[in-house]
Order: sequence, then structure tokens, then C-alpha cells
Amino acid sequence: MILPIVAYGHPVLRKVAEDITPEYPELKKLIADMWETMYHSNGVGVAAPQINKAIRLFVIDTEQIVEGFDEEDKREYPNEKPTKQVFINARIVEESGKSWAYNEGCLSIPKVREDISRLSHVRIRFMDENFVEQEKEFDGITARVIQHEYDHIEGKLFIDYLPMLKKRLIKKKLEDISAGKVRVDYKMTFNR
Ligand SMILES: [Zn+2]
Repeated sequence: MILPIVAYGHPVLRKVAEDITPEYPELKKLIADMWETMYHSNGVGVAAPQINKAIRLFVIDTEQIVEGFDEEDKREYPNEKPTKQVFINARIVEESGKSWAYNEGCLSIPKVREDISRLSHVRIRFMDENFVEQEKEFDGITARVIQHEYDHIEGKLFIDYLPMLKKRLIKKKLEDISAGKVRVDYKMTFNR
């Protein structure tokens, strides 16, 4: 089932999300719905707060990015492999490497894209969809997508990293999104 994406301005996007247990009601269905919602909106990741649930759950699939690489991208990210993964109760253990900028967007903040600097490497501990504990390391664009989605379960958004001047420049766009004055080809829910 395709779920509406919570738009910028909704308080759920600012909550630090809570851990869940394997008994969380209809977890399998929820995860399946999140995949369906993500693919429907052409996203590469979606976090539970974006579907109005303040729980520590997010999913990513970077295939769309990697498949879309041109020759220059392939040279720039030679080791990038498509990664599909469910993250439950995730905690970032360590971020390291060099700081690099990448043009980010967010399904909750449509039509806003900005270069955001993040560290290139992430080590993260989480449960997979079978509640088996995992600790994995990621680099490059996959690390980037994980950091972005992880921020969602911490109540953070990519625009929080923008300098004051940039924030001022997108203020009107953000107000419009909060007010529901935005057109997208996926379902959204607004805090009105
Ligand atoms: Zn996002």
C-alpha cells in the first residue's frame, strides 16, 4: 500500500524516533508498504517519520542512483554497488573519512536540492528485517543515503546543514511546502 509522505512543517519530522521490538504491530506489512511508497515516489530511501511514524526504521535502495551513473560518475565512484537494506533501531557507531559535498533532496521537501557536506564513511549498528543484529560499514553514495535517512530518525533534515544565507533563500519554498502549496506526483500529507 502506498502511504502519503509527510511534508516539511509536520512535527513528526522533528521527533527523535523510538526503538521498536519484533512485536511491533504488522511490522512486515509496514516495511513492505515503505518499499512500495519509496519506489512509487522514485526515492532511494524513506524513513518511518516520513510516513508519520516516529520509530527507528528506514529503508534504502541505491540501485536507481548507481544504474543512472554516467562515465564520469563511474570514474568518481568506482566501487559503488547498489545496496538494498532495511535498518531497524539503527545507531551510527562512527563517521569518518573526508568531508564531501553532494546534491541532496528529500521526498518531504520536494523541489529543494542543495549541496550538503558529510563525512564519506559510516559504521552503523542495526537490526535487519528479521531482527538479526548487524554492524556494517558503508562508503560513498550509500553512506550518504544512510546518513540522510538516519538524520530523519533523529529528527533532523538536510536543510538544517545549510548556512543562514541559503536558508533564507529557500524560506519561501519551505513555507509553501508547509502550507501544501506544492505539486508532486506522489501522495503527501501536510500539517494543516
Ligand atoms: Zn529525506
